[in-house]
Amino acid sequence: VPLAAGIDVGGTKMLGVVIDTESPGDVLRQHRVATARGTDAVVTGLVEVARALGLDEGTTLGLGIPGLVDDNDVLRMGPNLPDVVDAPIGRLVASALGLGHVPVDNDATCAALAEFRGGAGIGVDDGILVALGTGIGAGIISGGRIMHGVHGFAGEPGHMLVDPNGPMCPCGRRGCWERFASGSGLGRLAREWAEAGRLGAVVAAAGGDPDDVKGEHVTEAARAGDRESGEVLDRFAWWIAVGLANLVNILDPHTIVLGGGVIGAADLIVDRVVAQLDGLVLGSGRRPTVPVVAASMGEHAGAVGAALLGAHLD
Ligand SMILES: [Zn+2]
Repeated sequence: VPLAAGIDVGGTKMLGVVIDTESPGDVLRQHRVATARGTDAVVTGLVEVARALGLDEGTTLGLGIPGLVDDNDVLRMGPNLPDVVDAPIGRLVASALGLGHVPVDNDATCAALAEFRGGAGIGVDDGILVALGTGIGAGIISGGRIMHGVHGFAGEPGHMLVDPNGPMCPCGRRGCWERFASGSGLGRLAREWAEAGRLGAVVAAAGGDPDDVKGEHVTEAARAGDRESGEVLDRFAWWIAVGLANLVNILDPHTIVLGGGVIGAADLIVDRVVAQLDGLVLGSGRRPTVPVVAASMGEHAGAVGAALLGAHLD
């Protein structure tokens, strides 16, 4: 059985998995460690995870990293890995483990590979995965292949500018889509409403101070039937739909898969996005509706996709 290992590097933890490439949805083994700061510490952590997974003879390894990864498996920069710049992570890990080649790609690109090969988008050759977490990650599959762009940097719609006067983004610009449509965007929107004197039930649940309101307070209150929380989620879903409509207009995908921490509340979010997306797309009513579905691999998607990448099944 061809086994493949993959490790997904997050801002706080690294998660490694071993899969059978013929059944990528089934995780056979997994191991996680905290993400340390700096290139050397990240490489040491990756080697530790790989050894704990027990790489047998012939097991391949791939890595998913949050940031801009170029065609030579070099991490140019990652907003959540501030001390790791121009790091040849693939080569460093390969040499520490005595492996020939360890391919590296962006973590959300890996997640897209996993979801479109073995998860919610299985069988789809033209699709987009959008991961709504602290920020927004994405991966684009076109004609059955990852769309990389010339340098490897394609697929960062989180930094589409949607409001030139919007809030500052860690990338240095104002008004990027991820400031509005990520988990942090939901928290910010809820605090705006709370500071304007709305969302009384949510503010109470947060301990009484509008500044302490978080996205989870809104989803919990909405699930308990709070009307104003439902309205915040309608507005939040509109922001998600605005960016997805831009992507549909540019890429004409078959299916969009939504993942990331926000989709832990898929029951509250996905239907609201679907309800608003159609009307925002060019030629609405004269083209097929784009299915929007929740990711199915959860937190394993990035590592499973990294394993497929390592096995050259990208
Ligand atoms: Zn940005």
